[in-house]
Amino acid sequence: MTKKLPKPPVRPRRKVDLETIFERLNHHGRGYDEVFLKSVYDFTEEKHRDQKRKSGEPYVTHPIYVAYLLADLKFDETCVAVGLLHDVLEDTLTTKSVLEKEFGKDVAELVDGVTKISKTEYVRRDELQAETFRKMILASARDLRVILVKLADRLHNMMTLEHMSPEAKRRIAGETLEIYSPIASRLGMSRVQGDLEDLAFYFRYPRQFGELDTKVRDKMRSARGLLQRIARRLKDALDAADIDAEISYRVKRYYSIFRKLQRQGIDISQLYDFLAFRIITHDLKDTYAAFGVVHQNWRPIPGRFKDYIAMPKPNLYQSLHTTVVGGKGQPFEVQIRTREMDTIAEEGIAAHWQYKSAGSSQGSNDRNILWLRQLLEWQKEVKDPREFLSALKIDLYPDEVYVFSPKGDVSSFPRGATPLDFAYHIHTDVGHQCTGARVNGKLVPLKTPLANGDMVEIITSPQRRPSRDWLNIVATSRARSKIRHWLNTQQKEEAQAIGRKIMERELRKLRLQPKKVLAGPKLEEYLQREGLSKLDDLYYRLAYGRVSYRQVLDALLDEQQLETPPAPEPPGPIRRAVDRVTGAGPLIIKGHGDLMASLAKCCRPVPGDDLMGYVTRGRGITVHSLECPNLKTLSFDESRLIEVEWARQPSSGQFFPVSLTLETEDQKGMLARLTEVIAKEGSNIRQFEADTETGRGLITFVVEVRNRKHLDRMCTAFESLEGVIRVMREMRSSVRSSSRRK
Ligand code: MN
Repeated sequence: MTKKLPKPPVRPRRKVDLETIFERLNHHGRGYDEVFLKSVYDFTEEKHRDQKRKSGEPYVTHPIYVAYLLADLKFDETCVAVGLLHDVLEDTLTTKSVLEKEFGKDVAELVDGVTKISKTEYVRRDELQAETFRKMILASARDLRVILVKLADRLHNMMTLEHMSPEAKRRIAGETLEIYSPIASRLGMSRVQGDLEDLAFYFRYPRQFGELDTKVRDKMRSARGLLQRIARRLKDALDAADIDAEISYRVKRYYSIFRKLQRQGIDISQLYDFLAFRIITHDLKDTYAAFGVVHQNWRPIPGRFKDYIAMPKPNLYQSLHTTVVGGKGQPFEVQIRTREMDTIAEEGIAAHWQYKSAGSSQGSNDRNILWLRQLLEWQKEVKDPREFLSALKIDLYPDEVYVFSPKGDVSSFPRGATPLDFAYHIHTDVGHQCTGARVNGKLVPLKTPLANGDMVEIITSPQRRPSRDWLNIVATSRARSKIRHWLNTQQKEEAQAIGRKIMERELRKLRLQPKKVLAGPKLEEYLQREGLSKLDDLYYRLAYGRVSYRQVLDALLDEQQLETPPAPEPPGPIRRAVDRVTGAGPLIIKGHGDLMASLAKCCRPVPGDDLMGYVTRGRGITVHSLECPNLKTLSFDESRLIEVEWARQPSSGQFFPVSLTLETEDQKGMLARLTEVIAKEGSNIRQFEADTETGRGLITFVVEVRNRKHLDRMCTAFESLEGVIRVMREMRSSVRSSSRRK
């Protein structure tokens, strides 16, 4: 059995034209420029001339109706003009610059804003997404009028939705419920909200709408006598208390009843409080007096009393609410408020500049209330309501920004977030491999703060690795912790590589094969004893100096192996001999705790030198002197540079090799004098080479120094020797040739 669907709950007026719009503006006492609006009207009519709506009507009927709704809502002339023009950018060939030339920058900007909202597509359907989308629309519109026009546009589209396909009806009605009616609610425009919701309910859930409609009508028929009796008694009681008030009663809006049924999981037959009485008083004190009268005459239901006068809703709604039980056990709600509060309750934002104050509302620091309160403050200063409205720039959610993915998904971020936060929001790997970003189609630096409504596209490369600097760029804790985690893992791997290097070197010195030793049963025993699960953990400890290689060797080798005399220095390139890793003492990698690193063999930095670390692939961090010429080449990949500092107190007795080249006159005994200086300075010669064939002496030493000061002192001593022409610190490599002379 199919019942005929009732008529839509809200229907457009039959005929609306420029005259009707003027009539509305006049009715609300709005000043306007007739010539201006006429020219806008003609322009719109001309632009949409050959277009038709789905209903077959001329397209222009739509923008005209939208303008009419805005005039009816008491909005200003500019709003009405924008209502007329709101579809010309999207649906005709008109450009923004034409609008600007014809009607001024203000109107052009507003129309452009409405067009942008219309173009943003709402894709995914979950609650969080809807909330974000809503906030985004509110936040990205720089002028509140953009949203007002969009709401009127949506309202007319809902009024004429019957001409659309079933699929379009469902989609548009759903979007209205999820996005637009909550926005109207947020702005306190409860009449628009109610119209949007009831229309959406009608098209989205036609069967339920029909059932509810039948039930409510039945109930109203049977309750009519009761309602009239209650109204009469209320009137008498208020008169007796000398309270002058208007009394009305109405069925609550269908969609709010429907939601209530859904929420409470009850059937329409169990529905009782679908009725609301409204008492409109002259002043504030009468509201509380009337409230007392109601409670004297009917029994209140506990917990249903709400004082929204003392504690207004975020949208500044003010009223007293209570639910009482009538004679036959029929509960009904009573709302009590002043005329002024009633207007604000119906019209929300539209009403705010009409009243000089909306009552007192202390006690809440909710920033939404603060925002609206601020509006009221402005409105006190600005006499002309039109000026007030145009000054109205909204920033409803000052701590957040809302941005789009290329697919239209909306995400919210804390203000100050960058494309890098966005990348980590998509996926950890997208973050790690992020090399750049396009915002609104343009390439921007990764540190660029995101703005409301930005469309963000991330560029990745599989070669890319996170860099420590990124920690300063991101604003979300998610991105920060992902980057930290990556860096820590990386650091651990580097430490393990260094530990392995130490171990293998020491074993080779004893002429043992690392592979053999490390495969033996003794290792397993040792690891177990130390509570380590794998060899890498041991390497890690070695790198951090938490265990010395000596201790490890003692545990892994038997006495005989340990007594094996050290192998002589291997012949061949001298470089081999100085290939050593420094101990954990003197180096600190900034932000890495006490991670070790190896000193670069090209520049051989010593304590006191300014440093820069370079993250190698698989060989840990190599530390260069800031003066090292190789660093320029390495800096090409900036992300792999890492800040490094010497620890404050290098362990005493530790020496650092440094390469010096001395240019000398070829004098006999020169070498002896040089070595004397070195000995005097308490230093050792690691290697040296001398080339005297050119007639001049070119002597290269690798000497050990404690620090920069020590080095400088030695250099000065060299320079003061007779026959020494120049002393140069070698930074490119150590000893270049293998010719050794003594
Ligand atoms: Mn439209």
